[in-house]
Amino acid sequence: MSGATAVKKQTMNVPLLDLKAQFVSIEDEVRAAMDSVLETQRFILGPQVSDLENEIAAYSHCAHAVGVSSGTDALLLALMALGVGRGDEVITTPYSFFATAGVVSRLGARPVFCDIDPLTYNLAPEAVDAFISEGCESRGGKLINRATQGEVKVLMPVHLFGQTAEMSVLGDLAAAHGLQVVEDAAQAIGSEYAGGKRAGSMGDIGCFSFFPSKNLGAFGDGGMCTTNDAELAERMRILRVHGSKPKYYHALVGGNFRLDELQAAVLRVKLRYLDQWTEGRQRNAAHYTQALADAGLGEAVQTPHRCEGYRHIYNQYVIRVSQRDALQASLKEASIGTEVYYPVSLHAQECFADLGYAQGDFPHSSSAAAQTLALPVYPELTEAQLDYVVDAIAGFHH
Ligand SMILES: *Cc1c(COP(=O)(O)O)cnc(C)c1O
Repeated sequence: MSGATAVKKQTMNVPLLDLKAQFVSIEDEVRAAMDSVLETQRFILGPQVSDLENEIAAYSHCAHAVGVSSGTDALLLALMALGVGRGDEVITTPYSFFATAGVVSRLGARPVFCDIDPLTYNLAPEAVDAFISEGCESRGGKLINRATQGEVKVLMPVHLFGQTAEMSVLGDLAAAHGLQVVEDAAQAIGSEYAGGKRAGSMGDIGCFSFFPSKNLGAFGDGGMCTTNDAELAERMRILRVHGSKPKYYHALVGGNFRLDELQAAVLRVKLRYLDQWTEGRQRNAAHYTQALADAGLGEAVQTPHRCEGYRHIYNQYVIRVSQRDALQASLKEASIGTEVYYPVSLHAQECFADLGYAQGDFPHSSSAAAQTLALPVYPELTEAQLDYVVDAIAGFHH
């Protein structure tokens, strides 16, 4: 057969995320919800926000929820409510979005990194245990970091890519050493640990983000703190409005961490579809994993590890390959959007140089940063698009 008659493989466009596809499916409902807010001309901390708070609390199996201005502010507010400040330390993962550690520094506290589990990319309980038993001592009921003399107050695991960290072991460690637990659940709304325990319900405070690319995304910034502790919830409500209670009387210094009515109205519509969208993501993830195996890529491409009995909500479907940058460039040529979450471990960020970490301190985190690549997994993807992505990956490796 001559070259002229051979059918050239059709190019498709597969963006990393297509929010328009979701919007058209709910457009009428969302516009009606936004209109109803416009008619009230009440824009900040009104009935939409409190209804959303109740709905997210129920969805996350928590007693209380406090709507805030972003996922970052949720983390900041949580640490403020727990009294984290100068001289304090927070144990967390070096393999996360910047905000996880950034909020610790903004409070004058120190992020202490422990390495991740190489399969799940989540904070490794063994690494936390090693840091506490080798690097800390108990003094007057406080856990003191021997190297810095700082007080370790909080353990902050991140439920990365939509799968929860090993919360039972981490929770036991925290309880044994008097640490409070803040869950960075920004990527994990509706995600479940073994036994059906939901993200945001297992620590003292859970923090969610409604950034548009999260599974429950607003039309702008938004976030939520969840807790089962009524006193902490009240403290967060006060800190959310500059520490004001009653109005213009300040026993605490807080900030403006308020959530808008318009965002809450949009999120309430979207929350009704969240489980259906999550199922779409899970279906797409399962399709990729099967198709990559069928294409004989089991060796070359490490697919996401699903922990037995967990509910993974696939905010990201992240593969691991040795020639990551070359694969990403090749997929880009084929009009396939991908992203590297995250290219630089937090301990290696320029702004954290004064923490004194060396590049090689967290080898699992650094090797994940060099080898992982997120593929499109949003619910509206077609099977043809998924197969196109798998074919392109296979084409690169063969
Ligand atoms: C998105 C994200 C945040 C921050 O949320 P914003 O709403 O963007 O401020 C924090 N931590 C993690 C792990 C995130 O993915």
